[in-house]
Amino acid sequence: MDTRARLRELPSVDELLGRQHARELAKKHGRTLVVEGARAALAEARRRIFAGETSAAAVGEADLAQAVERLLAWRLRRVLNATGVVLHTNLGRAPLAEAAIERVLEVARGYSTLEFDVASGQRGSRQAPIADSLCALTGAEAALAVNNNAAAMLLALAALAHGREVIVSRGELVEIGGGFRIPEVLTQSGARLVEVGTTNRTRTADYVSAIAPATALFLKVHRSNFALVGFTEEASIADLAPAARDAGLALVYDLGSGDLDEARRTLAEGASLVCFSGDKLLGGPQAGLIVGARTLMDRIAKHPLARAVRLDKMSIAALEATLALHRAGRAEEIPAVRALLEKPVAVRKRAERLASLLAAAGVVAEVVESEGQVGGGAMPLEKLPSAAVRIAAPARDLLLALRAGETPVIAIVRDDRVLLDVKALDEGELGEVARMVGAAVERLAKFTSTSTPTGLEAVRVFDADAEGET
Ligand SMILES: *Cc1c(COP(=O)(O)O)cnc(C)c1O
Repeated sequence: MDTRARLRELPSVDELLGRQHARELAKKHGRTLVVEGARAALAEARRRIFAGETSAAAVGEADLAQAVERLLAWRLRRVLNATGVVLHTNLGRAPLAEAAIERVLEVARGYSTLEFDVASGQRGSRQAPIADSLCALTGAEAALAVNNNAAAMLLALAALAHGREVIVSRGELVEIGGGFRIPEVLTQSGARLVEVGTTNRTRTADYVSAIAPATALFLKVHRSNFALVGFTEEASIADLAPAARDAGLALVYDLGSGDLDEARRTLAEGASLVCFSGDKLLGGPQAGLIVGARTLMDRIAKHPLARAVRLDKMSIAALEATLALHRAGRAEEIPAVRALLEKPVAVRKRAERLASLLAAAGVVAEVVESEGQVGGGAMPLEKLPSAAVRIAAPARDLLLALRAGETPVIAIVRDDRVLLDVKALDEGELGEVARMVGAAVERLAKFTSTSTPTGLEAVRVFDADAEGET
């Protein structure tokens, strides 16, 4: 039968909806959703006909039910991170601390003091819950939290350097990922970029000789996701601070990661402002934090963009709780911080436990050494000693099967074997990982013993090793 004849054989949407099982589905899920499902099922059938798949002309009960199920399924799903990358940008960076989750629930469920001061009964500031903690933790005079660090940079530069010049080292004109390029952010902020130095060497004198009447500030950018080695030289914050002060210029540092000690140190060394992410080393929600001089912060807070990039109440709740843990010396209650600080022997133990859970699930696995990563563009050269279990099964098929499971397990492949690195896995997740792996291995065995692995084809390829974006 030719393509057109097979297309003509397909039922219409109305025909599909008139069937008994479709009416039952509509009763359960509502007609609108089932109409959408019917359209999707027909589109899929048409795609198969055009692709020359011979058995695809009919749209049956199962096809419609599946299409409706797909519409009902969550698109943003929990996954089990067996990549060894603690702050995996593609997997949502930092898991929140229990205390932060509780605060989010409480604030999300009802009304809150988001912009209300209970003492005076007047309008309050949404920055208040965060600013004090940030100042205490970094020694800053003032602090401001916005949507993410990219927004923090954009806002700071727009407020302080619009229509003026910003001096940056050529060695720091980085692309952070997802198209966040320092030169482009500068352009968007309305500032003009003045590059100084060379790719590998920039000295304080290079900055100083570029100072002009239009100069607004010196910008230093943490390289985050790459390293410069060999014949290199760069001006540190401590080097640049006196030069900036002498010239009456601000010195802004894009630190990237939420390394509070580094923020404190560079402020003490003379940075006017330091910007960093809430969900990198800090281990909190997505946010961009600006700390530093009050006079500059006042200008930033008043800029119209500040409203456009402000944080929502759930992020503020999570951030307040995360900062409180840092402030109380209880940072090890933050999952990402705990994972980064953990001793190799503890990681090894977790891998051994996973291996024995897998053995109980009938999966042959051995514990091997592994190398985790901080991720999130922090410390690209630093390898975290880690441990993993290696599974004896065809790597590519197993990788796909693991992603196709009820809770996807994101693993890595090394030497053509699947490794489950436990660095970023919580003790409480091991049982579930073992169950998911057991189920995946079972499905694989079935597929290879029967015909086509239809369930696996549908999984989009996600290369867990290609964490290019920070
Ligand atoms: C990660 C990073 C950013 C972007 O931060 P987001 O919070 O992801 O927006 C900007 N600058 C540097 C140096 C970074 O490392």
